[in-house]
Amino acid sequence: MMGQLPPEQNTLFYNFCLERHIPSNHLLRQLDQFLDFGAIRKHLRPFYSDIGRPSIDPELMIRMLLVGYCYGIRSERRLCEEVNFNLAYRWFCGIGLEEEVPNHSTFSKNRLGRYRESKLFRFVFDGVVQRCMNEGLVKGEGFAIDASFVKADVSRQRAVDNDASSGWEPSTVESRAVREYVEALDEQPDLRRRQKSVSLTDPMAQWTAAKGPAIFSYSTNYIIDVENSIIMDVEASPSTNALEVKTTQTMIDRIELTHGIKPKRLLGDTAYGAAENLGYLVNEKDIEPHVPVMDKTKRKDGTFSSGDFLWDEKNDEYRCPADKTLKRNWRNFKVPRLGVTKEKTIIYRAVQADCELCPLKQQCCPNTANRNIKRSVYESARDVARAINQSPEYDSFFHARKKVEMVFAHMKRNLNMERLRLRGLKSANDEFVLTATAQNLRKLAKLCARAPPTNGFLAPKN
Ligand code: SF4
Repeated sequence: MMGQLPPEQNTLFYNFCLERHIPSNHLLRQLDQFLDFGAIRKHLRPFYSDIGRPSIDPELMIRMLLVGYCYGIRSERRLCEEVNFNLAYRWFCGIGLEEEVPNHSTFSKNRLGRYRESKLFRFVFDGVVQRCMNEGLVKGEGFAIDASFVKADVSRQRAVDNDASSGWEPSTVESRAVREYVEALDEQPDLRRRQKSVSLTDPMAQWTAAKGPAIFSYSTNYIIDVENSIIMDVEASPSTNALEVKTTQTMIDRIELTHGIKPKRLLGDTAYGAAENLGYLVNEKDIEPHVPVMDKTKRKDGTFSSGDFLWDEKNDEYRCPADKTLKRNWRNFKVPRLGVTKEKTIIYRAVQADCELCPLKQQCCPNTANRNIKRSVYESARDVARAINQSPEYDSFFHARKKVEMVFAHMKRNLNMERLRLRGLKSANDEFVLTATAQNLRKLAKLCARAPPTNGFLAPKN
């Protein structure tokens, strides 16, 4: 017989307890064990007034954002709808069945206001990393670094070629992303760069064709501990090699300052083998760089490359294939000259008389009177990296570097992080930090979740 729903509700009063309806192995129930909202409230306290109308509970806002980033719900408007309809989301956020879900506009107001001022998202992320360390998920021996492009929220139609943008003056009535761009250039001159095309909606986004058809994008830079792929730090940057590599220093210093941990070795691709970066890792931090050395000194015309010259550390000079000397100074100056160029190199020169009479001149410097060699001031660090590249364990460690690419794949595929929803570098950073927090929380839940306390109830098994 065909059944039919009763025409009207047959129960007038419900005795409904959310706690009993969330399975014990539900992701949100597992995540809940690892969040410390006492510390978050303490951190936020100075940013709230002691008087006036109570705000929406910041714990509720953070919980809702974590639900959004853990389940790839990127729109705050949709997040509010989902929390309204989904029992597990309501339970995690602490919203009773009959309570109102906050309006989506509350998020943007708080995100740009006191959350940014208090660096709340970074605080939450650091708290989760610390929890990972306390649970023994971080070994601290090998860190891997890499960057991944994420499309900026801009349209190609609102972009101009570089020449056309040269006369463009951002005005004070421009959008927030433009105002932040102008402020950022004043604070960090490194961010000033020439691009083929500039977005007038979000000028900080980088126009790049490095990964296929050209797009405007930002890069999310991750440093992970390779033992369990825990994200130790994250930083947003425009998608250029130089700015991505610069984040190495920012992140390594910040991890050491926040968590008191420094890796023995750093694994990265060729981009991180820039001389200055290797100098920072080896000379300043005593970290082994498991990174291919970026070397542009190899000559392709068959003449001698600088590698064909012998370096004499003791006498601070090179010996050429004809056994002549190349020195940085052939005269004694009253005031010693360092002779370091803008590119952070020192030039070593052969004597013109030696080269003119040399039988190897055609193989060495056929177009100049004498031979010069440019030596990077970080050459000793580059030598350390070269020696590591030749070591037997290099390959095994280098393969571990791929783990960071898997973390990026998870971010894009499972957390729906293909395109940014917010504009400007600071907002991109907020989105990346929240995404990395969600990824670490999911990892904690997977590896360390324990059965929840029953509180007198028995949660359903599944
Ligand atoms: S050309 Fe000059 S630098 Fe080159 S091998 Fe001959 S002497 Fe040495």
